[in-house]
Amino acid sequence: MKAVAIMLMLASSPVAAQQDYAKERERMVREHIASRGIKDPRVLKVMRDTPRHLFIPKSLESRAYHDTPLPIGYNQTISQPYIVASMTEMLACKPEHKVLEIGTGSGYQAAVLAPLVGKVFTIEIVEPLAKQSAALLKTLGHANVEVRYGDGYAGWPEEAPFDRIILTAAPPEIPQALIDQLKPGGRLVAPEGREWQELIVIDKDEQSRVKRRRAYGVMFVPMVKGKRE
Ligand code: SAH
Repeated sequence: MKAVAIMLMLASSPVAAQQDYAKERERMVREHIASRGIKDPRVLKVMRDTPRHLFIPKSLESRAYHDTPLPIGYNQTISQPYIVASMTEMLACKPEHKVLEIGTGSGYQAAVLAPLVGKVFTIEIVEPLAKQSAALLKTLGHANVEVRYGDGYAGWPEEAPFDRIILTAAPPEIPQALIDQLKPGGRLVAPEGREWQELIVIDKDEQSRVKRRRAYGVMFVPMVKGKRE
């Protein structure tokens, strides 16, 4: 009897260790995302499916599905799930879209975008974060995400123009180079400002006329200039 009990314990331990937090994600979506007005079913589904606990330090795993930003090292943070969902909904992505993200960080926002679009190009200025998130995104099977270590102020000219551009670090002013890399009919969503920041939505029409609107106040890490070693 004893031997059988030990065998059972051994057999079940990997399952316990690899808790997938599906219930926690379900609750997060219900209490913090759907209840606060996010309606796009594709966004709600991807928020339910994306394992945020894998994008944060192991020691913070129990807080993975709370609606808060969390530190990811190098003085950077993973955004609050509601903000990720809200910005993703604002982007109004289509399956054929080519998307540029500035500020890969943990890779979570890129993982949320990946199932919704054709291809995600994402730039991170902290090299170890770029490497780490590229490896994680690959492990999770997101073959349509390309991570580059570099300075997002220049965008990704070789792959431009983009249908959608999202910034997850706040520049004092949205760089013109990024607006230039937006396709006609494209949309850019970005936090802008210094101590006081607002989420800005820029639409470029088919004649390349640009329209800007403010969504709401936010708090992101600053978008810094120049590569840091
Ligand atoms: N999207 C991320 C949130 C990252 S926080 C996630 O889902 O986890 C913002 C990130 O922007 C940080 O990792 C920071 O290093 C990066 N960043 C800041 N300035 C940048 C720049 N000029 N170019 C590219 N990345 C930048």
